[in-house]
Amino acid sequence: MKYLVAVRALCAFTAKHGDLDLRFTPSPSAQEGMAGHALVAARRGESYQAEVSLQGDYKTLTVRGRADGYDPVLNQLEEVKTFRGDLHAMAENRRHLHWAQLKIYGWLLCAEKNLPDINLTLVYFDVASLQETPLTEQFSAASLKQYFEAQCERFLAWASQELAHREARDAALKALEFPHPDFRPGQRALAGAVYKTAQAGKCLMAQAPTGIGKTMGTVFPLLKAVPAQQLDKLFFLAAKTPGRKLALDALERIQAAKPQPTPAPMQTPLPLRVLEMVARDKACEHPDKACHGDSCPLAKGFYDRLPQARSAAVGHAAARGVLDKSALREVALAHRVCPYYLSQELVTWSDVVVGDYNYYFDTSALLHSLASANQWRVSVLVDEAHNMVERGRKMYSALLDQAQLQQVHALAPKAVKASLQRLDKSLQDLHQAQQARQESYQVYPELPASFLKVLQQALTHITDFLLANPTRVDGALQDFYFEALHFSRMADAFGEHSLFDVTLRQDADAAASGEQGWLNAGQATAQLNIRNVVPAPFLAPRFAAAQSVALFSATLSPQNYYTDTLGLPAGTVWTDVQSPFLAEQLAVHAVSDISTRYQHRDDSLSPIVDLMARQYEGQPGNYLAFLSSYDYLQKLAALFRQRYPHIPMWEQTRGMEEAARDAFLARFTPTSMGIGFAVLGGSFAEGIDLPGDRLIGAFIATLGLPQVNPVNEQIRERMGANFGAGQSYDYTYLYPGLQKVVQAAGRVIRTTSDRGVVYLMDDRFTRPEIQSLLPGWWEVVHLRARGKRRSDRNDHSSLASA
Ligand code: SF4
Repeated sequence: MKYLVAVRALCAFTAKHGDLDLRFTPSPSAQEGMAGHALVAARRGESYQAEVSLQGDYKTLTVRGRADGYDPVLNQLEEVKTFRGDLHAMAENRRHLHWAQLKIYGWLLCAEKNLPDINLTLVYFDVASLQETPLTEQFSAASLKQYFEAQCERFLAWASQELAHREARDAALKALEFPHPDFRPGQRALAGAVYKTAQAGKCLMAQAPTGIGKTMGTVFPLLKAVPAQQLDKLFFLAAKTPGRKLALDALERIQAAKPQPTPAPMQTPLPLRVLEMVARDKACEHPDKACHGDSCPLAKGFYDRLPQARSAAVGHAAARGVLDKSALREVALAHRVCPYYLSQELVTWSDVVVGDYNYYFDTSALLHSLASANQWRVSVLVDEAHNMVERGRKMYSALLDQAQLQQVHALAPKAVKASLQRLDKSLQDLHQAQQARQESYQVYPELPASFLKVLQQALTHITDFLLANPTRVDGALQDFYFEALHFSRMADAFGEHSLFDVTLRQDADAAASGEQGWLNAGQATAQLNIRNVVPAPFLAPRFAAAQSVALFSATLSPQNYYTDTLGLPAGTVWTDVQSPFLAEQLAVHAVSDISTRYQHRDDSLSPIVDLMARQYEGQPGNYLAFLSSYDYLQKLAALFRQRYPHIPMWEQTRGMEEAARDAFLARFTPTSMGIGFAVLGGSFAEGIDLPGDRLIGAFIATLGLPQVNPVNEQIRERMGANFGAGQSYDYTYLYPGLQKVVQAAGRVIRTTSDRGVVYLMDDRFTRPEIQSLLPGWWEVVHLRARGKRRSDRNDHSSLASA
């Protein structure tokens, strides 16, 4: 059997040496890279062939890749590398790597076309100036063959180990049995749907209730699909740390299970390499240093020590299973390499990667770019996928803050001061008319070209400065620089999917003195926002690039909202896994005589606290009360405390640290009693598990609708423009709000033996159109806060009056 390796992976393995050096090398974005390649190709003559697929064998290796272009008339093969900044500052080991790749392509082409020699040209393309720097050398086929074989020889031992691992992995996955005695109710249906769509190479949206074991119900069937689908890797992507932890736990359990039949030598865990990716700031050992050999000892000689660290990490995975954050740290420090960048190197040699959404979906997502560069067949699991809309928007939004610019300018080095000043002036020009009209918020149809030009010039000057002063640490300038760079990239990609708006802010001193300072020329500063509203155009190519995708959550309704906003492919399969819970497990009351609309909030406090106390006194135990804002929470908590001082209560506070959050949750024990006050959509409203008597009820005030404000109204308009006026309100307010309500209520019933109660405290919950968006297994009973049941379910006042 042959081992297939991409040219890039081969060279990354054999031709990298020296230090890790990431000082001020803002790599071009994927879009910039693609645009750069396209522009270079467009500049070539008619005989130029772009994207030349090449492949060749050496012993047990098959090496393949795509060279950027070949011109048979010139007998010239090109590899294009996009960059930003000063080419001379590029580290020698990066250039060496680029030449290594080109030489391998060169040999593959010579072998295919039987050429005696070839001109190899490395084209460095500056994404800012659009200038090319070509470096050309002629090579004989014989010398390239020799080079190719030498690289392959250095890789052969590793390749045969990988081949053996792949065979063992696939055999073990074929024999793998479910690691529990049986599936939980609903879990089998979910697993079946994931398996079938993976086999069909499709995208799946699975709405499945909490408590059925969604993580195991998706990971296990996907692993089973790996051998038949010849998948290279699975990516399990989570919105938050607890989701990652659940995935790692499930994978550990799977690894510990013995494949059937179990041959004698297979007493070690399942041969499945699982890697956890964590953010740089969580993995960094030297947060006060920069990522290059002159600053950080773990970057010095990184690539020289990488082979040993890589072998040790793979050995660890074979012996003990999951390479999580702490295992990775142990291996990295034992070999004096950076744990964060070691984890990036290990992606290539892992079977399952568990990490945040960012790693596959954001502008410069590592997992996505590695998968496409190496042509991996990957399958993607998206945990708690209802978060994807909001997270996708964040990834493709950008902010430029004039106040921050002015602070950076005040302390900036001379070399960049003038261009920062020009940028400030250009910003001032941009919002001058708005300021004259005394409008604090305004949406613009597009970003002015003149401003973008000045921004681009400023970025070029800062890049040059940072590259020329690699050891100088200027945190504020760098922070501004990276934000401005992201802004400029999002500006390039601006379209119907996003809004561009300017918010003017009053000068701080004038604000303190009560004057309308921003009205006076020169005093207002602007915040420029590119707000992504519909992430679909950015996310769709990511979904399309995967062999199969499964998005799962307890709340993915209505389906069209998620397919539209996320850009899921046509033919996406939808499954709504029947809940294993029975209506009698959860008493759901819609309170018909309380309005939590903004103008009625103060009036709602008294009946809400009385209702909560009545429920508590009738059935003492642990409850959560969810309010739509901290303000509302504090008012309600204060009244509750005053009126019912004997009932234990505790509150979520703004910006709670991890320890405080843990303490909040620790109060919910099987024997404790009291009410925790929390914010709807906050950290206690989803992703927490309080089974049995740890939580017996929830009070939910408001429909969770986002506040009606100028920004949300603009989003509503943009939703209308993208998906039709009929959807604009629902897509902006109703669906995101109710999704939070259902998530919060979902905290109460976690197992088939749980019993509990939910109060939906707003008259709008009694309407049929709202109830149709609640889980189908709920039986909602209408209730008056004063305790009388009512039978009428018809109240047609406008939802939009929220
Ligand atoms: S330890 Fe920190 S500073 Fe050093 S290379 Fe790693 S991430 Fe960079």
